[in-house]
Amino acid sequence: MLLKSTRSEGESARFKDAIFIGLAPDGGLYYPAETIDFTGLYRSFTGETSFNTIATEMTAAFLRDETDREGARRIVERAFDFEPALVDVGEGIRVLELFHGPTCAFKDFGASFLASSMEEFLQEGKERAIILTATSGDTGSAVARAFYGKKNIDVIILYPSGRVSPLQEKQLTTLGGNIHALEVQGSFDDCQRMVKEAFNNGALKREFSLSSANSINIGRLFPQSFYYVWARMRMEKDPVFCVPSGNFGNITAGLYAAHWGLPVERFIAATNANNVVPEFLATGVYKTRPSVSTHSNAMDVGAPSNYERMETLYGGDVENFRRRIQGDWITDGETEETMSRIYRDHGYLMCPHTAVGYRAAEKFRALRGDSPVVTLSTAHPGKFVEVVDRVLGVQPELPPPLLALLDREKKAELVKSDAGEIERYLRAHF
Ligand SMILES: *Cc1c(COP(=O)(O)O)cnc(C)c1O
Repeated sequence: MLLKSTRSEGESARFKDAIFIGLAPDGGLYYPAETIDFTGLYRSFTGETSFNTIATEMTAAFLRDETDREGARRIVERAFDFEPALVDVGEGIRVLELFHGPTCAFKDFGASFLASSMEEFLQEGKERAIILTATSGDTGSAVARAFYGKKNIDVIILYPSGRVSPLQEKQLTTLGGNIHALEVQGSFDDCQRMVKEAFNNGALKREFSLSSANSINIGRLFPQSFYYVWARMRMEKDPVFCVPSGNFGNITAGLYAAHWGLPVERFIAATNANNVVPEFLATGVYKTRPSVSTHSNAMDVGAPSNYERMETLYGGDVENFRRRIQGDWITDGETEETMSRIYRDHGYLMCPHTAVGYRAAEKFRALRGDSPVVTLSTAHPGKFVEVVDRVLGVQPELPPPLLALLDREKKAELVKSDAGEIERYLRAHF
């Protein structure tokens, strides 16, 4: 699949190279530049088609110039030993649970597929790669878990000492093997600066084949389209997809699935108070601003990077956007109210991010009761014990994959917040 950068037509790469490059050299994001029509492929699926079959078929079609169907099957089989679930919660609303993976959040889908693709394409060339990533807690754990045990790939994770939760620290530091944790005596911004400086050192980057695995990577975005297709096949009518959004990667993957031929009524982009996209959809003016902190903190983004990808899809014309997407934003007060009420009325516990989407889905249904809504659940409520406990007065159970980590031993190297520390670590270990 030929990809282009959102910033210049001339900047292009094949999928199998772009996943190692990450951000395009001009600072843009890679997007599929070929015309894709999966209408026939989608028609071959039914409500019985398994998630892995859908994923394999879509991968084989998407990467038809880069691997054969056997390669596509290998990538998918290695990536997914988990799948989504669709549950009815309230009248006309279904929750698409995306938290049944190893770190109990939807980012497992993207991270697992990226890791598996990298392993596949490295084996072809018998090369090695080192993934360098900074994390403030949550996203790093999905990456760490996804790359654990992958052949010819090592991962170095930088995290700020004392500033991630104890459970997050366990997720980053107890795997061992090819996952290396550097505990930085500084802030998350220091970690990011160190990683950036290492990448800016061209000689070092080449010598150790440094790559990134952050959320803008096309290898994380593409697989997120699979679960929209999987869910659509299980609906009788064209659904409305409601997506709790921060960086807008998740919803962009859905927009792609629809653009490639999936019958969908429309999309709702649901945000918390960081509402630059809903505001754009309402006023036609796109204006980023610093983020504010909310209960749904994984969505506290003031300048969503995937806006650029949506813009290439719709040409920056707000009327084109409006034909496919509408926006809504939900306050912390409404988020709390929704979590409490749905728990009380339906016995269903949801994380604050999921509650933002659920509330937006309810508001849509109140105006347009005829369309079924599928709202995406992005994380297991047990990951947000503090908020859930404070709002509902119940301690959610920690999901088993995370519970198992608590007894494991932390292994991390304490380092100063100095970019030279990464080079020193690389020379000492690789
Ligand atoms: C990352 C994340 C989101 C936001 O997803 P985007 O793709 O950035 O829009 C929502 N909920 C949870 C739990 C997340 O981790």
